[in-house]
Amino acid sequence: MSCAPGPSWTWCWARTPAPARLPATPPRMPLARTAPRHTSPPGAGLPGGAAAGFAGKVTLTVPLGTAVGLADRPGELAGLGPVDPWLARDLAAAAARNPKTTWCVTVTDQHGHAVGHGCARPEPKGSRNRAGPGPPPGRAGFSFTPASRHGPPGGFGTWRLCVPGGGPDLIVAIHSLATQDCEHRYEARGHDPGVRLRHLSQVRHATCTSPICRRPASQCDFEHNTAYEAGGRTCLCNGGPKCRHDHRLKQQPGWKVDQLPDGTFRWTTPAGRSYDTEPTRYPI
Ligand SMILES: [Zn+2]
Ligand SMILES: [Zn+2]
Ligand SMILES: [Zn+2]
Repeated sequence: MSCAPGPSWTWCWARTPAPARLPATPPRMPLARTAPRHTSPPGAGLPGGAAAGFAGKVTLTVPLGTAVGLADRPGELAGLGPVDPWLARDLAAAAARNPKTTWCVTVTDQHGHAVGHGCARPEPKGSRNRAGPGPPPGRAGFSFTPASRHGPPGGFGTWRLCVPGGGPDLIVAIHSLATQDCEHRYEARGHDPGVRLRHLSQVRHATCTSPICRRPASQCDFEHNTAYEAGGRTCLCNGGPKCRHDHRLKQQPGWKVDQLPDGTFRWTTPAGRSYDTEPTRYPI
């Protein structure tokens, strides 16, 4: 892997939809039962036949350094929790064998907060001649390299993600998630967020933004902090995931929620106590 200076390249997401020919049973629970931590050696393969491919909708989060074999950090399965580095590597390799798997790369800062994100897409055929240096020759498996000859400035820009399995190279354009001086790059004109805005809000906050709720963001509403009807933007700087319960709670008399420029949500209860929910801290 070749990394530019700047933010740390930490997370690589694999989202695998269910192939039609496989049963739609999520592998999460079988894996939990058959893969006790610290007992299977690295490279031992996946238990329970999971190596044949993923079934069900799985969100696997793997540190990029772990995926390319340059680091040894835990991964994470949504709804299950941390998984050992060797299992994260094997799961990522298994996901790569499913051509419907989609990949995302999240850049984190020194605290583990997401500061940049890119969703991988197959490289257009016409751009291959203008490509950057590409992965090191003879290297199988995952690699992550600049997709332009000069490399992306400051660690953002366009990168090339190669995954095992023989598919086309993937291009990842990484954009900032900062809302300190929001440029409203992802703003939607209407009340409802677009797919991209909703996705990025779920990257920044992987769970409901209530301080005591852990409902996955994928099961939450995109909630405007300042109501759309009151002039609030449909943008990263004015919204985030809230489960339906906490969405309604916030609208009750006496409750107040402020969204700070760094993405923190500050809840103030009717009793006047304040509690902060910072953006998700991904393990780094
Ligand atoms: Zn993405
Ligand atoms: Zn904005
Ligand atoms: Zn909630």
